[in-house]
Amino acid sequence: MIKLKSAREIELMRDANKIVGEVLQEMSRVIKPGITTGMLDKIADKCIRSFGAEPAFLGYHNFPASICASVNNEVVHGIPGLRRLEEGDIISIDVGTRLKGYYGDGAATFGVGKISARAQKLIDVTRISLQKGIEAMQEGHRLSDISYAVQAYVEKNNCSVVRNYVGHGIGQELHEEPQVPNFGPPGRGLLLQRGIVIAIEPMVNAGTWEVKVLQDQWTVVTADGSLSAHFENTVALGENGPEILTSSEIN
Ligand code: MG
Repeated sequence: MIKLKSAREIELMRDANKIVGEVLQEMSRVIKPGITTGMLDKIADKCIRSFGAEPAFLGYHNFPASICASVNNEVVHGIPGLRRLEEGDIISIDVGTRLKGYYGDGAATFGVGKISARAQKLIDVTRISLQKGIEAMQEGHRLSDISYAVQAYVEKNNCSVVRNYVGHGIGQELHEEPQVPNFGPPGRGLLLQRGIVIAIEPMVNAGTWEVKVLQDQWTVVTADGSLSAHFENTVALGENGPEILTSSEIN
């Protein structure tokens, strides 16, 4: 069941998602060699609460932190802790907020200090693949047109899209229908119409698309140990086309 959002609901979601953008901006300022992922979590939690919102991930299926922090070969759902970032690492930060009953969700991957050209390329390909997906989110298109746009761009650039985790509808729940895969043929699935709000979130690997979950039951890593990047925006389809609600200069 797809819940279309009214203009008033989209306004509320703009507020929840703007905070996600602010937190990602703050992360871009503080991420540097020497900081731990646990410190990033504390800073993000404080930032979310300073806007009167709640961290949506804390306690979600018992997740123990306010952000997901996934380093290098970690794809998503990394648990913040004592790991200290080193020059040349890349780190994906996923942020969820809840404000006045509505959710915000967004993610970005950052370089730590100076990173390799290969790592920078992976980050750029992932960020641009999200833009391609968003551009395909138009009235009259089908849901899988978004999936296809993401996959085509990623594979053209010799990277791979993760299959096991997908984007999602969002609103009064963090995860709503429909699922939004980052792969598949165009022209399938839901007919896109005004009022649909989804989180589009390509997870892109430098090597194989296959992943596995670590013993902590959360951290998803690439099966071949290659680097992975993740960008996510919550996007509403309005009368002027797709509107990015998690707006920030980061993604
Ligand atoms: Mg999400």
